Amino acid sequence: MSVFTHVEFDHHEQVVFGHDKATGLKAIIAIHNSNLGPALGGCRMWPYLNDEQALRDVLRLSRGMTYKSALANLPLGGGKAVIIGDPHRDKSEALFQAMGDFVDSLGGRYITAADSGTGVTEMRIMAERSRHVAGAGTREALGGGVRDGNPSPSTAYGTFVGMRVAVQHRLGRTDLNGLRVAIQGVGQVGFSLAQYLKDAGAQLWVCDIHDANARRAAEQLGATVVGQNEIYGLDVDVFAPCAMGGIVNPQTLEALRAPIIAGAANNQLADAGLAEQLRRSGILYAPDYAINAGGIIDVWYERSGGSEAALRQHIEGIGETLREVFVRADAEGRTTTSVADRLAEERFGR
Ligand code: NAD
Repeated sequence: MSVFTHVEFDHHEQVVFGHDKATGLKAIIAIHNSNLGPALGGCRMWPYLNDEQALRDVLRLSRGMTYKSALANLPLGGGKAVIIGDPHRDKSEALFQAMGDFVDSLGGRYITAADSGTGVTEMRIMAERSRHVAGAGTREALGGGVRDGNPSPSTAYGTFVGMRVAVQHRLGRTDLNGLRVAIQGVGQVGFSLAQYLKDAGAQLWVCDIHDANARRAAEQLGATVVGQNEIYGLDVDVFAPCAMGGIVNPQTLEALRAPIIAGAANNQLADAGLAEQLRRSGILYAPDYAINAGGIIDVWYERSGGSEAALRQHIEGIGETLREVFVRADAEGRTTTSVADRLAEERFGR
């Protein structure tokens, strides 16, 4: 297993392997780039089949964080941690204490946060051992109470703001009253996004593999529930993927009728080449890592202690970034993803 010749290696600054015999911890932390600040990124726990899979994931994801934070105008670099293990079977307090020690050993060059397989509980355990843990839900919310560390509402708000800009750019309308939106997945982010849209007067169609979530959107927001495969072919203005990745692929593209794709799911394009196909078809794609950055902005404010008003204003900056991406993509005849990548690189000084 090589690092420097690995296909996902992209001049990462530091890749560290951590092991603790007593707890069975096997983890990797990768710092991709720290030009803008310490590398912040989630700690993923996953039953990787081998070390190679874990290395590939941590190299790829840490790079993605550099781009995401730079686009979100955060004073942060990109990093990520992976723990090799089954989150349903292998979790223990001691394991996350050991992981906290591992994070701490980097002296703040890497700041960890929750990701697939970890959550606020694990962040709190790690925070006992290191200051370099974000999203442990310890910040006092403005106006009283304690923030619970869940960034989903901020992700939803950023997605709403980004969608508004996409609608203005592609459809030339500033008001969302009567806008037709199809949301795939009404979980934490999707439901909250649906609430913002409903308040703005939009008409909603939703699907979810979890019936209770779809029902909640129907009962509380008056959304029309459709089948999982029906969601793509609806005659709507916006398709908002808020479930899983890879859902923009040759099969779904054939069915898709919406002129805008703007949603919170990570890694929406099944392969990068599809961005060009979307451009040629006149479908405006809001790059996922730009529009769903509300979560990381939230995590950063929780950590740095900024006010709720400043957090909201920062999240609204997602709209400005997307506007710049859309305008440049049109002017240069390029895809929104390549423009977003370039903009991120300008910001982090590649
Ligand atoms: P969630 O698990 O709360 O919600 C996802 C919902 O999608 C669930 O209700 C689930 O039942 C549904 N779903 C899963 N597969 C589906 C399918 N094939 N068709 C229809 N529905 C399906 O997750 P979330 O926190 O709301 O995150 C949603 C997406 O946004 C994920 O891709 C996540 O990576 C991304 N994201 C989330 C955040 C955040 O702050 N939570 C931040 C950035 C990106």
